[in-house]
This record gives sequence, structure tokens and C-alpha cells, in this order.
Amino acid sequence: MIIEKNIIPFVDKWEEAGTFPAHRIFKILGQAGFLGINKPIEYGGLGLDFSYNIAVAEELGNIPCGGIPMAIGVQSDMATPALARFGSDELRRQFLVPTIAGDMVACLGISEIGAGSDVANIETKAVKNGDDYIINGGKMWITNGCQADWMCLLANTGDGPVKKSKSLICLPMKLPGIHIAKKIDKLGMRSSDTAQIFFEDVRVPRKYLIGEEGMGFTYQMLQFQEERLWSVAATLAPMQNIIQETIEYARQRKIFGQSVLRNQTVHFRLAELETEIELVRSLLYRCVAQYIQGNDATKLASMAKLKAGRLVRDVADSCLQFWGGMGFTNEVLVSRLYRDMRLMSIGGGADEVMLSIICKYMGTLPGNK
Ligand SMILES: Cc1cc2nc3c(=O)[nH]c(=O)nc-3n(C[C@H](O)[C@H](O)[C@H](O)COP(=O)(O)OP(=O)(O)OC[C@H]3O[C@@H](n4cnc5c(N)ncnc54)[C@H](O)[C@@H]3O)c2cc1C
Repeated sequence: MIIEKNIIPFVDKWEEAGTFPAHRIFKILGQAGFLGINKPIEYGGLGLDFSYNIAVAEELGNIPCGGIPMAIGVQSDMATPALARFGSDELRRQFLVPTIAGDMVACLGISEIGAGSDVANIETKAVKNGDDYIINGGKMWITNGCQADWMCLLANTGDGPVKKSKSLICLPMKLPGIHIAKKIDKLGMRSSDTAQIFFEDVRVPRKYLIGEEGMGFTYQMLQFQEERLWSVAATLAPMQNIIQETIEYARQRKIFGQSVLRNQTVHFRLAELETEIELVRSLLYRCVAQYIQGNDATKLASMAKLKAGRLVRDVADSCLQFWGGMGFTNEVLVSRLYRDMRLMSIGGGADEVMLSIICKYMGTLPGNK
């Protein structure tokens, strides 16, 4: 209902504008309880388990673009899990409560110009200075970055091994020395603003550290699990919606004396894709069941993200073909999702990163699981 009334009618306008009013939309979602589903009740969350986040992510997939669901997901399931789990009470009251309520917009600052897949390679530094950190460096590809009130920032707080040298910090975005360098012009996800941001001697209190100093990399790897599962869930509806619209179009489109859908190659292909969507759904649900029981779900989550990323490309590509020239226009959902869903194989860990993680679990690659 909220989606139908407050979001769907405006998507085309926001896609064209290259941004959407995050504060207004998040306030509506926050009031309805959608931004803190598995977060503690004492901080304004609903206190439910993560399977309910997955149900909401699936619903958000019905918004006819990828950008808005992704922006909402960053707020609810990507920038906040570590804060909710490891943040001090004071920090959670200052940043988590207003984020769950939709009074603050959050972003996640992990990637940099020289470090995307290779998170260990980040160069942004937070150096201790009395009761403060002084932050220098920059972040790239930051969803909600132009509008955010705070960032869950990954920065180097020391030297030494990766699992001891990085920390997550709640960074208010209106501080002196924070420069939004640009809003990045993208192939897809156009309604979501994506920023490049620089930090120049930004002073932030050390009490804004999430959990223990040096544990940031480990916290972020845990936080990635929810991001990846959420992303898989958010691709299910788009895939099914594209197939459904393609069936309707191909049924009414007549060529060579019959509807496009009457060709066996077309309906067999659609049936096969639909079957694969159900396989991804099953893998996702199995993985989520493991995760909510407190088990390590990294391997299954990586498998689910890998398959969803590949499948959504297959679905968009095959379906776009059946639309002929119409598929190549900006007037149909399939072309928008063809562009937007391409990100699934890149963002939050590229396909190859997922494969590397799976290999480590299989024992075919060295490294920590
Ligand atoms: C629209 C958008 C929104 C984003 N939002 C955010 C955000 O909010 N916060 C944030 O921190 N980041 C965000 N990102 C960044 C995203 O997570 C990174 O783009 C992603 O991690 C890939 O990093 P990279 O772009 O530096 O690619 P690179 O790390 O340079 O990788 C390039 C390619 O190399 C290949 N590759 C990578 N690893 C391997 C390997 N082990 N073996 C073989 N090949 C490999 C893959 O094909 C990969 O696509 C966003 C990106 C986009 C495009």
C-alpha cells in the first residue's frame, strides 16, 4: 500500500531526475516500521528475525526500478547491522534510533577508488588525536551519499593485519572537511544517488567508533551477509515481473501470423527461467533459515548471490529479446531492469568474489573462510 501510494507513481520522475527524496520516503517507511524490522525494540525496531527483512525486500522488488529498493536496503539492511549488533548504547541512540524512524538517512562507506572487491586495500585513515579521530581519504560509489546524514565508515585505525587494523565509525556527514565531489552518472539505478566523497582532516569523536577498535573488517564481513541476502531477495520480484510482462506482450504481439508466445522456443525459455527463479528462491530461504539459527551462512549466501546475479542477467537479456525493438526503448520495464539489475553481479561483491569465497569453503583456494 505504501509502495503503491507513495513510491510507484513517482518512479519515472525520480529516474529522470537521477535522485529521489530519501528523507521524505524514509520517514514514511520508518513510521510504518519497515526500516528496523530485525532491530532491537528498545531502539525503535520491531525485534523480528531476519526472515521478515527478506519478506520486505521481496515486496520492495515490486517497485518498478532497482534504484529505490537499493537505497532503502542500504538504510535498513546494509549500513546498520553492525551498529545494531556492536554499537554502544549511546551510539545506537544517536544514530540507529533516528535511522530506524526515518529521521536520518544512512549510507555505507566501504568502497574507494582503489578498493572495491579488495576491501582490505582501503586507504582512508582515522588517526587518533586526543578524544577524536582525524579522518583523511575518500569513498567511492556511495549510495544515498548526496543525501545522507551519517555514514557507516570503514577506515584504517592502525597498521598490521587486516583483521586488526580497520574500524567502523559512525560519521556525521555535515562535518567540516567532508566534500561530496560528485553525483556519479550511471548506466542504471538512476533514481538512486551515488556519490564520490572526500575527507580532509575530518574530526569525529572517538566514541563514534562501532564496537571495538580494529574489528571493523570482521564486522563488515558479517554486515555483508545481510546485504547479500537482502540483494538476492530484492531480485526475485523484478525477475518474475519481467517474465510476466513479457508473457503479456508476447501473447498480444503477432508476427508471421501468430503471437510471439506461440513459438515453443519462447514459452520454453520463459518456463526454464521461471524454474530457475524458484531454485534461487529455495536456496535463499535455506540460507536465511541457517542464518537466523545463528549459523555461518557465508557459503550459501555467496552461492545465492552468485546465482541470482547471473540469473537476473539471463532473465533480462532473454526477455528483452522477445520484445524486439520495443525492448530497446525506455518505455518498458524490461529495459530499465536490464540496466539496473546488471549491478547485482558487481555491487556488494562481484560474481568472481562470490566464487572465490565459495572456493575457500570448498578448500580449493587458500585463505580464511
Ligand atoms: C550503483 C552502485 C552503488 C554502490 N553502492 C555502494 C555503497 O553504497 N557503498 C559502498 O561501499 N560501495 C558501493 N558500491 C561499490 C561496489 O560494491 C563495488 O563497485 C564493487 O565492490 C566492485 O568494486 P570495483 O567497482 O572497485 O571493481 P573492482 O574491484 O575493480 O573489480 C572489477 C572486476 O574485477 C573482477 N574481479 C574482482 N575480484 C576478482 C577475483 N577475485 N577474481 C577474478 N576477477 C575478479 C570482477 O569482474 C569485478 O567486477 C556501489 C557500486 C555501484 C556501481
